[in-house]
Amino acid sequence: MEQLREMLLQHLQHPVFKVITDTAEAEGLETYVIGGYVRDIFLKRPNTDIDIVVLGSGIHFAEKVAARLGKVKVSCFKNFGTAMFKYKGVEFEFVGARKESYMRNSRKPIVEDGTLEDDQNRRDFTINAMAISLNKATLGNLVDPFDGMTDLHNRIIRTPLDPDITFSDDPLRMMRAIRFATQLQFYIEDRTFAAIESNKERIGIVSMERISEELNKIMMSDKPSIGFKLLGRCGLLALIFPEVLALKGVETVNGKSHKDNFYHTLEVLDNISRETDDLWLRYAALLHDIAKPETKRFDPQVGWTFHAHNHVGQKMIPRIFRRLKLPLNEKMSFVQKMVQLHMRPIALIENEVTDSAVRRLLFEAGDDIDKLMTLCEADITSKNREKVERHLRNFKIVRRKLREIEEKDHIRNFQPPVTGDMIMETFGLTPCAEVGTIKSAIKEAILDGVIHNNFEEAFEFMVRKGRELGLTPITRGNATTCTDKNKSEA
Ligand code: ATP
Repeated sequence: MEQLREMLLQHLQHPVFKVITDTAEAEGLETYVIGGYVRDIFLKRPNTDIDIVVLGSGIHFAEKVAARLGKVKVSCFKNFGTAMFKYKGVEFEFVGARKESYMRNSRKPIVEDGTLEDDQNRRDFTINAMAISLNKATLGNLVDPFDGMTDLHNRIIRTPLDPDITFSDDPLRMMRAIRFATQLQFYIEDRTFAAIESNKERIGIVSMERISEELNKIMMSDKPSIGFKLLGRCGLLALIFPEVLALKGVETVNGKSHKDNFYHTLEVLDNISRETDDLWLRYAALLHDIAKPETKRFDPQVGWTFHAHNHVGQKMIPRIFRRLKLPLNEKMSFVQKMVQLHMRPIALIENEVTDSAVRRLLFEAGDDIDKLMTLCEADITSKNREKVERHLRNFKIVRRKLREIEEKDHIRNFQPPVTGDMIMETFGLTPCAEVGTIKSAIKEAILDGVIHNNFEEAFEFMVRKGRELGLTPITRGNATTCTDKNKSEA
């Protein structure tokens, strides 16, 4: 016991703790550090969000602590009865101990002052309900009424009270249970999991923003597949992300089966999560095959096909992002681009890796080419080791080729060396279809390697192409429209 206290005291070294203890003495108030910070001490996870609970007013107490520290700006949230400040890189949040009661149609509780025990009862999980005393006489004592320590040791997520009531009161806790199980790789105790299953419909009273916040934390875990499998099993996935659930299942026709795209997708997601912390690249992995259920056909000649699933998939993304309240900005465009292009590198290998195909890929992927290659490498999930290694070797060749061609031709973010304005000026044109035709012919010629990506060759090509269209270069200031062109001068 004494050993445990010594260990906990080691984690109360931040200078603010000492000031909290002094303030608590001066004010004659009981105060504790509670929740995630305590849990993370035992899990040896760094945590810079510290929750302090006071048997009294959290706001008043925070102001007293801040006054002793000097030069600290306290933010008060009167509606919630909480106050917080940042000190030396750590965020301290103060709240008065409270008792909560819930109404059926809202996850906002009616709050009244309570004891430490009341406050611990309102916590979501036993591992999140532990408190450490900050009062002088009992400093460092652990208050752990639900034996969170044992659950931590056994790696179990369990609610302190009846899970049915806990989840029905605040259904966001169901998402939090699965998020913690994923982040910490803990087991959700059977009764707790069963209560999620039976309360799943209650998720309807939670805002999509809060659901996505948890979903993003699942996405950012070391092994996000854990969370998606749990969401699938308890029935929440069908309610919040039916498109992902629709990937599940195998169909067999004439003895031919396709792979289960749900498990394949989750494997790709886990693979990519070992390589990147980019949330949006992880979303690209989750969504890369999202249109497979919609595009699935059985062709007796070739078996299962998912024709244009990349294209249909990228078109599904805005609807999904809008519903999940994910950003509808360049992050979404990036995910769409990855989904659209995810089959291109593999097609490169299957056909021959020609310079022209590599240039086209570089042109379309631009600066995102490395991320696209990371996605494609993660997408190889065959059970056949030899096949996986062969593909990875081939991708290495593609990567080398991409580097070589980029060094030579600078295709990434390439802007055609001859602009539309130059074309108009050279042939004395106003904006018209021919300008576009010549412009795209120049782009195609560069991508096909007919000419190099430089001004001289592009200009010469432009003049040639113009002539083919019946245009003649003119001197400045002689602009005509395309309807009368300058054919007469030709
Ligand atoms: P993380 O920082 O990884 O999100 P955390 O446990 O610190 O983990 P917070 O959201 O900061 O998460 O919550 C702090 C504490 O507040 C939790 O440990 C838990 O005791 C309590 N808590 C948070 N949300 C809920 C909830 N919906 N229901 C009950 N208790 C909650």
